[in-house]
Amino acid sequence: MNNFLQTLIAEARQDTAYYVGSDLLKLAKKRYPLTRLMRLLGDGQHITTGGHPCHLCNASGATFCLSRPRGRWTFSCTGKCGKYGDQIDYLKAKFGLDDGEAIRLLSKLICP
Ligand SMILES: [Zn+2]
Repeated sequence: MNNFLQTLIAEARQDTAYYVGSDLLKLAKKRYPLTRLMRLLGDGQHITTGGHPCHLCNASGATFCLSRPRGRWTFSCTGKCGKYGDQIDYLKAKFGLDDGEAIRLLSKLICP
């Protein structure tokens, strides 16, 4: 992970006063669809709709898979972690962030 990302993650954790309006969040989600976000995070090799071992939980038998219902990419893990969802859920699962931290991080990617 590069320094820029590490800095944004640290800021997203600490800067609890940073307010993200719904318009900014909508724009950030549009600018960074899950597949693009994954590439940015160095997870491009996990972009698959066929399913492969889950890199988020590494549980044995867990399958990570992407799908695109209604034109929006989402991920899911069939294993014990059972994590699924959109870009915000991905950031939460990958970095152990809470909702607010993940929202701030995604927003800071387009508006640092
Ligand atoms: Zn998993």
